[in-house]
Amino acid sequence: MTKKPFTAPCGTGCAAAQMELFPSSAAAPAGPEVAAEFDFDAHDAVIIGDSGGKDSAATVHEVCTQADKAGQLHKVRVLHVDLGRTTRGHLVEWPGALEVARAHAEQYGVRFDVRRSKRWSSLWERILSHGNWPGFFARYCTADIKTVTGRDYVDETGAELNLGRPIRAGYAMGMRAEESPARAKKPAVERHRMSGKGTRRVVTTWLPVHQLTTEQVWEVHRENGIMHHEAYDQGMRRLSCRACPLAATGDLVRSAQLNPELFDEYADAEADMGHQFKKSIGLREIIERARS
Ligand code: SF4
Repeated sequence: MTKKPFTAPCGTGCAAAQMELFPSSAAAPAGPEVAAEFDFDAHDAVIIGDSGGKDSAATVHEVCTQADKAGQLHKVRVLHVDLGRTTRGHLVEWPGALEVARAHAEQYGVRFDVRRSKRWSSLWERILSHGNWPGFFARYCTADIKTVTGRDYVDETGAELNLGRPIRAGYAMGMRAEESPARAKKPAVERHRMSGKGTRRVVTTWLPVHQLTTEQVWEVHRENGIMHHEAYDQGMRRLSCRACPLAATGDLVRSAQLNPELFDEYADAEADMGHQFKKSIGLREIIERARS
């Protein structure tokens, strides 16, 4: 994991991130036209959601490269949403993810902030309170922890800039078309539904690395000496929560090998809740496969 200082824009048109801080905008509010390309001049700040993952890193690279070229690097800040700990004190995220996200911001010389949900002490607390695991049709984890914390950070940025009007913020994420058919349909730039009349913000979501393949994301890392989390070297393909019900079974088995105590705690919670962790497989079976 090497890193080198931010260099001149590479012009490859790349970047990436997997934090879904502002998920799908079902009904974009009315407002000024959103340009097909991100317009730095039209925004007061550009916030990048960085989970510490590879797609986040490429997104930081792409946004900072474009911002630097446009003389707008001062508007960029990187936000890491800390997901907190479980009851037994295990980090929900991969240990070191926050530090990797910080290194991304430092490499490009932009501000880095960490924020937590104001309502929930951790994603774990939110899951226990819900009494069932998140699923494809119940992404309350993303909505209640990441989206709300990201929205609060936009408002905090607006208050800090003291504009006397709603902040116009860009929010960059590392979602990529290759990840799913739903993500493939997303426009690279769109107005987010949390904007609009009566709100304190006008938010443009921006997916700067939407068209990149996984290989291209790694290429961005190699070419620019960008830090990546060691979990990738240990066989993980994604750096989401260490135990995510939406992850592929193979990734969960590998994660259970690397995080046995965390998975034990999750398996106990699964038994208490009476709901299987993942439709296709329960945590005890994941743990057995990890041990075999
Ligand atoms: S549980 Fe999965 S979907 Fe939910 S926040 Fe964590 S990684 Fe994202």
